[in-house]
Amino acid sequence: MYKADYHTHSVFSFDGSEELRNMCEAAIAAGLSEIAITDHVDIYTGMPAGYLINFGEYGDVGVKKLLIMDLQGLARGLEEVREEYRGRLKVLRGAELGQPQVNREAARDYLRSTQLDFVIGSVHNMEGDRDVYYYDFKDIDPAKLYFHYLDWLFDMTLQGDFDVMGHITYPLRYLYERTGKTLDMKPFEEKLRSLFRCLTERGRGIELNVSGLSKGGFTMPELPELKLYRECGGEVITVGSDAHKAQYIGAFIEEGQEMLRAAGFKYFTVFENRQPSFIPLD
Ligand SMILES: [Zn+2]
Ligand SMILES: [Zn+2]
Repeated sequence: MYKADYHTHSVFSFDGSEELRNMCEAAIAAGLSEIAITDHVDIYTGMPAGYLINFGEYGDVGVKKLLIMDLQGLARGLEEVREEYRGRLKVLRGAELGQPQVNREAARDYLRSTQLDFVIGSVHNMEGDRDVYYYDFKDIDPAKLYFHYLDWLFDMTLQGDFDVMGHITYPLRYLYERTGKTLDMKPFEEKLRSLFRCLTERGRGIELNVSGLSKGGFTMPELPELKLYRECGGEVITVGSDAHKAQYIGAFIEEGQEMLRAAGFKYFTVFENRQPSFIPLD
């Protein structure tokens, strides 16, 4: 089975620690043919306004992390490993853009100035708030929160430039991890349908993020949403481990690809120079 992990983080992500070379070795050991390095480029973090920092040519991005992120070092490192592993492992230059719709100019400038193969658009932070990762869910109505999250995903689809939408059920992962609760997805079906149509019309896709499986949880999204996406004409779909450590690279990618087949997909998607191509799921 041809395997590709399209969501991974290296030492260049604020929350990663793994050297690019270790990631490539882990990818080969896991039997991957391709790996996309998708380090966080947070265009917006929801930090208070005082936190805004002028990032020169990128403008006010309000992101300390982006400011201290060594974009040149990442580009150099990627070139090195691409060369070193040529013929053994395809290494793609990716990025996980956080909330690109909040500062479209900064996102556009970043994308213009950086040659990328693949871009994930993700929502981690909503207005003025911390990453959903930090929520304790004590005083939060999870259904209300997820409706609101979907609004943010819509907004990103309409305004942001990306290839696939990251972890579309992100808040549900942390709801489960903090409280053990899951959410009835029925009330969200219509809204998800519209989101999927909106993405498909624009030639964009979603990812199947399998990171939850390493923690005894579930994928983002799960099988019913994958089926719904397929029903809505969705074809562009990548599979990613969201590994922040080498040990998770390639983890559950095969299971993810099998899930896609179960959901009715015949292909999964890989990218180069932001152009999709389709690999049969056989
Ligand atoms: Zn993410
Ligand atoms: Zn990620």
